Amino acid sequence: MDELPVLSSPAGRNYGQPDPLQEVAFKSDLAMEFERYLRTQSTNCSIFTAHKNQQFIWYIEHPNRMLGRDQISINQRTFALRYFEVDDGCLYRKAETKPDGNGGFITGPRRYVALIHNAFGFITDIHRLILHFGIQKTYEQVSERYYGITCNDVAWVVNRCTICNLKAAAKEPVLVTPIVASRCMNRFQIDLMDFRTTPDGEYNWIIQGKDPFDRFVLLDPLPDKTALCVAAVIERWIGIIGRPRRM
Ligand SMILES: [Zn+2]
Repeated sequence: MDELPVLSSPAGRNYGQPDPLQEVAFKSDLAMEFERYLRTQSTNCSIFTAHKNQQFIWYIEHPNRMLGRDQISINQRTFALRYFEVDDGCLYRKAETKPDGNGGFITGPRRYVALIHNAFGFITDIHRLILHFGIQKTYEQVSERYYGITCNDVAWVVNRCTICNLKAAAKEPVLVTPIVASRCMNRFQIDLMDFRTTPDGEYNWIIQGKDPFDRFVLLDPLPDKTALCVAAVIERWIGIIGRPRRM
């Protein structure tokens, strides 16, 4: 029986070089966690181990030889020779022809065979390349280029992306409590606007008073927001418009 050669390194990826942007989006230990997930929890049966990858390359490079005489080895060899090819020492799933949805057929590109230990890098590279566009879009792009990665695998990774989670949190609607006023001067809302970055002389703040019933507004500049300054303005406003029921 023949011995397997050492596995060739995948083309097109610079392994071992830390990518600072990727480190921001994905925790440093997530690649290991994902590998553990693929080995123990994932239902994905099509992703290759490094050993299976070596076996397939060997079968294709030695089409007339066998690694084993058992049924599993025979089936694997047939599968490898029919659906896979080797280029520059790397394994690819051959281009496949599929229905295009309009009665015709379309042939896709050949796809690089992803492995348990490098799938994380492929998913995160593409996810960042398409600017964190979401699970489905990331999966579409991943499955165009790589064989063996499922949509659930992509979801596992994207759901743990720090940048996507921050964006999702920012999109959550702010809880708004409406102010209900039954008549004029029933309520008077007071708010302070911060202009410390663009002050006008001694003034850094604008105090706004608003009657939510008729939307009547009063504005005054303030040098600071101390109780003394705010109280002086409100006292003057009460002298102009009278005393509201609630402030
Ligand atoms: Zn993301």
